[in-house]
Amino acid sequence: MKASYWLTGAVLFGALLSTAIPLQAKATPTVYVTFWFDTEDFILPQADDAAKRLAEMFTARGVQATFKIVGEKARVLQERGRDDVILALAKNDVAYHSTWHSAHPTPSEYTRDLDWQEGVAEFLRREGVGLETVRRIFGVSSSCYGQPGGSWTPQSYAALRVFGIPLYLDVTSHVNLNDRPFWYGGVLNILELGDGVIRTDWKDEDVKQACAKFDRVFEKLTGEGGGIVSVFYHPCEFVHRQFWDGVNFSYGANPPRNEWKLPPTKSPEEQEQAFKAFEAFLDHIVRHAGVRLVTAREIPSLYPDRVYSNPLTQKDVRAIAEAFQTRLSYVDLGTRIVSAGEGLLALSQSVAESDGNRRPADVNVEFACGPASVPQQFLTEGTFRWDALRQAAQELIEIAHGTQQLPSVVWVAGQPLRPEDFAVTLAGAVAAESYPAEVPLRRGELEARKFVADDSSHLWGWVIFPRGFNAPHMMALAKLQAWTIKPAVLRKIN
Ligand SMILES: [Zn+2]
Repeated sequence: MKASYWLTGAVLFGALLSTAIPLQAKATPTVYVTFWFDTEDFILPQADDAAKRLAEMFTARGVQATFKIVGEKARVLQERGRDDVILALAKNDVAYHSTWHSAHPTPSEYTRDLDWQEGVAEFLRREGVGLETVRRIFGVSSSCYGQPGGSWTPQSYAALRVFGIPLYLDVTSHVNLNDRPFWYGGVLNILELGDGVIRTDWKDEDVKQACAKFDRVFEKLTGEGGGIVSVFYHPCEFVHRQFWDGVNFSYGANPPRNEWKLPPTKSPEEQEQAFKAFEAFLDHIVRHAGVRLVTAREIPSLYPDRVYSNPLTQKDVRAIAEAFQTRLSYVDLGTRIVSAGEGLLALSQSVAESDGNRRPADVNVEFACGPASVPQQFLTEGTFRWDALRQAAQELIEIAHGTQQLPSVVWVAGQPLRPEDFAVTLAGAVAAESYPAEVPLRRGELEARKFVADDSSHLWGWVIFPRGFNAPHMMALAKLQAWTIKPAVLRKIN
């Protein structure tokens, strides 16, 4: 974080406090607004100047936006000698937007038929290249990632953890939890926010409407105790008539570099009007009382996950066991929220550490991805001795610790169980006053799966995909990761 930004921001905020905000309004919850730009067009040179102009707009106001930069775009900026653009962007927050964006194969295309581990490895291999280019040229690690177009893939999450990227910032309907920030795959997600994604079109009338919408959403979010608004653009939209990739890579087309076409551009007057419209919208938000602009780098600290920082108490473990009786999904413990997977790990850990009927006072859980596959053969009825269940719980903890992933099959007394069934069976025993000697198998379904979309054509409407693209296997893997989904809770500062 740059000292100058904080200083300017503090002075600005102080000025706002003294002039615009009456003292009693200080308790109003903060609405955070994050501006982000997918900086991806490596074909149209005018897009470089657009990015610079937008970056400078923020700097001039003592605030920052997040520029999610494509690896090839960063490389091309350097090749074109645009150190001025690189410097202007670097005064804002630098984030990542894939190596090649729309050149095929895009992430959904190359992970479509891969299993979990191979998909993670392929994402690391292909997207690690551009990530390193952005790091080398801008001199910082990327604060967040968002997929090119609609090219989402569940394996990206495990890869982001390896990259050390804690935030997924984009707009996409592949996974969504009530249009609010959420955790999935061990990564914080700011995706669909319902009304909370706001943009203005280019006419003065559009700006007026967008500002009015912002004011309405601001009221709604302050009523919820604060929240976040996401505003996104592409620098190239300020200067082009059509996207750079649409004219070159549509429907699976992949022409060689020497055949790339420049997209048509707006007239100089239209370009000015676009910048002017955006600037008016930006000013409306920057000057709005109760608003704080945040970059992707700051967002994770607004949504701390308290599950790993403090042990879960025996009371928490019992609450999880109770909740799993009716619904296998995330559990709100009041002070924090555990995902279904974290709940299963907490139950297993508690049982594994129990000495006879004496249960541990508290347990620590570690993060684990959802399982990698769905078993085809598994037990559907039966009864287990307590010792066998306890041993299986111990083994589950060992596997999760060793692989950072939940097992696809849980073996109890030599019999294969689905993790869902094991979770609900174990919950039944943990919820009892004392551990029973015999435990009947109970069947469970992971209700949290509903937060991950079913494979359907509306997920794959991005014009860059080959016609008829779908990804049923990939979305099935995505549903397995619903073990990790839970709401992200905004830190209360006021
Ligand atoms: Zn993009």
